[in-house]
Amino acid sequence: MTDAPIQRLCVIGVGLIGGSLARALRAAGACNEVVGCGRDSQQLQKALALGVIDRAETDIARAVQGADVVVVAVPVGAMAQVLKGMASQLSPNTIVTDVGSTKGDVVRAAQIAFGNLPPTFVPGHPIAGTERSGVEASFAELFRQRKVILTPASTTHAWAVSRVTWMWEQAGAQVSEMDPQHHDEILAASSHLPHVLAYTLVHTLAGMQDKDEIFKYAAGGFRDFTRIASSDPQMWHDICLANRNALLTMLRRYSGELQQIAAALQHSDGSYLWSVFAQAKQARDEYTQTTQVSTELGVPSPCKGEGQDGGE
Ligand code: NAP
Repeated sequence: MTDAPIQRLCVIGVGLIGGSLARALRAAGACNEVVGCGRDSQQLQKALALGVIDRAETDIARAVQGADVVVVAVPVGAMAQVLKGMASQLSPNTIVTDVGSTKGDVVRAAQIAFGNLPPTFVPGHPIAGTERSGVEASFAELFRQRKVILTPASTTHAWAVSRVTWMWEQAGAQVSEMDPQHHDEILAASSHLPHVLAYTLVHTLAGMQDKDEIFKYAAGGFRDFTRIASSDPQMWHDICLANRNALLTMLRRYSGELQQIAAALQHSDGSYLWSVFAQAKQARDEYTQTTQVSTELGVPSPCKGEGQDGGE
C-alpha cells in the first residue's frame, strides 16, 4: 500500500535534514517508529530527548534491520561508506533513499556499495534547508511547499518511487523527477555556484587589512548575499568536490562575465553595465514573482525569526 504509514523508518544521519524529515513524518502520522543512526551517541541522545527518534543505533547494519524505508541523510562524502555498511542487511523490499545535494556521485556510490543499482534505491534531493546543522536545528515544517527532486533509474521499481514520492508529500513537499546528471548541472548553477561565491567573497574580505571596518559598515546587501557562507564547511566541501565538473563549468562561465564587467569598468562603458544590471533585475523580479522564492535560497524558517532562511 502506497499510502499506509511507514512501519519502521530508519534515518541514518539525524541532523537538520534527517531530523526534519523524521519530525514531519511523525507530525503527519506517516510513520510508526523511527530508528536514528549516527556516529555520535550524544547527538543521538539529543534526538531521542527531542522526540525526533524512538531508538538510537550507532551500528548501521543493526539500524536498518526490519526497516521498510531507510533514509540516508549524511554528507555526500560519507554516502559510499554508509551505503556499504547496510548492503548485506537489506531485504529486497526495503526502500533506500537519500537526501544528498548531488546525485551522480550518490548513484555511483550505490552501484559500488550494492554491486549494482538496487531497484528499490530511489535517489532524492529536497530543495530546502537552512545554513544551520544538527538535530537541534531540525523542524517539521522545513519541507512544506518545497520541491524534492527524485532521480530514479529506468530499472527502479515504480512502487518504490511511488512510496518515496508519497513520503515526501506527507512532509508537505512537491516531488518531481529528473535525470541525475541534469540535476547536478541545474543545482551547480542555482545552489553550488552561489555558495562558492558567498564563501569566496567573505574569505576575500576577511583577508583584507581593513576587514574590521569593512564588516562594521556592511549593511543588508552584504548580509543577504553572504548568509549562506555560514553553512557547514564540511557539507559544502563534499558537495563541491562531488559535483566539480558541473561546478567548474559554471565557475568558468561566471568568471567570463566578471571579466566583461571589469573590462566595461576599465573603459567606462556605462551602457554595458546598465544592460547587464537591467537584464539581471528583470530576470530576478520574474523569478521572485513566479516562484515565490521556493528555491534552495529562500526557505521561511521558524527557527531564526529572520523571515528568510536557506542553506542550500
Ligand atoms: P547535518 O545537520 O550536519 O547532519 C548530518 C548528519 O549525518 C549528522 O547527524 C551526523 O551525525 C551524520 N553523519 C555524518 N557523517 C556520518 C557518517 N559517516 N556515518 C553516519 N552518520 C554520519 O547535515 P544536513 O544539513 O542535515 O545534511 C545532510 C545531507 O542533506 C547532506 O547530504 C546534504 O548534502 C543534504 N542536504 C542539505 C541541505 C541543507 O541545506 N542543509 C539541503 C538539502 C540537502 P554524526 O556526526 O553523529 O555521525
